[in-house]
Amino acid sequence: MKKILVSGCLYGWHVRYDDGDIPCLDKRFLKWKEEGRLIPVCPEVFGGLTIPRPDSQRVGSKVIACTGVDVTKEYELGAIEAVRLAKENDVVVCIMKQDSPSCGSKYIYDGTFTDTKIEGQGRAVQLLRESGFVVLDENDLDKIEKLIEEN
Ligand code: SF4
Repeated sequence: MKKILVSGCLYGWHVRYDDGDIPCLDKRFLKWKEEGRLIPVCPEVFGGLTIPRPDSQRVGSKVIACTGVDVTKEYELGAIEAVRLAKENDVVVCIMKQDSPSCGSKYIYDGTFTDTKIEGQGRAVQLLRESGFVVLDENDLDKIEKLIEEN
């Protein structure tokens, strides 16, 4: 069975910076979950960050928390772990939570902590794509359904 890497907060894990989740309740997503197709990852927690944790944003090549702490190393470790799990499970596509500094695939916040989004991608998504994986988001389930049917 072909597998799908998913952001843990979409899967229902309470791993967001504010201790919340943001579960995807689309019927197709729930069916894939039931079938055991989904491989949940939370790059930030897998990289060693706590729940809850300060909000962080990409700033150039670094990731900086709103407290000013440099968390680039933790984001890097989490990205490496996401790629390891994607390879280990032979995933065909990844569904990653939009806008996150780890999981965003089209947009991220601009590093000013002024609630401003820009086009960009999170650190884990960047490494997944550099490693050859297709990364989409929670709004792309039509495309993902086709990919699953084709593979
Ligand atoms: Fe969700 Fe990804 Fe943020 Fe973890 S790092 S809380 S999986 S968006």
